[in-house]
Amino acid sequence: MIHYTLSCDSQHRFDGWFKNAEAFDQQVEKGIVTCPVCSSIKVEKALMAPAIARASETMSVAAPDPAQVRAFMRAMREKVMAEADYVGPRFAEEARKIHYNEAEQRGIYGEATRDEVTSLVDEGIEFLPLPAIPDEHN
Ligand SMILES: [Zn+2]
Repeated sequence: MIHYTLSCDSQHRFDGWFKNAEAFDQQVEKGIVTCPVCSSIKVEKALMAPAIARASETMSVAAPDPAQVRAFMRAMREKVMAEADYVGPRFAEEARKIHYNEAEQRGIYGEATRDEVTSLVDEGIEFLPLPAIPDEHN
């Protein structure tokens, strides 16, 4: 069985059940299908409002587990702190000396101002920002 919502030429809507699509066409041709309201035989399948597919706003993105990110940052900090010399606010100065072979080649870490960081980048001196760990305030 197949169900159609039907509409006559006066826009009356009604439901009809048919054996199959072919049977519907045949019955309409023969004038067997009539409107229950006005008995019109000019019946056709009602145009159904198209289903509007809601545009999906979702995107496939991966959010790393914050705990994993913190663990990674902590490990990186610990490695740097264990292996590098702490130079405090003289970081830019020391990094520059090392870069220009005016100081011993070694890992250092410390603090730098935004301007210092900018000039280090300009001079092509390699360094990495030491990540702040969100749940640590030391
Ligand atoms: Zn009708």
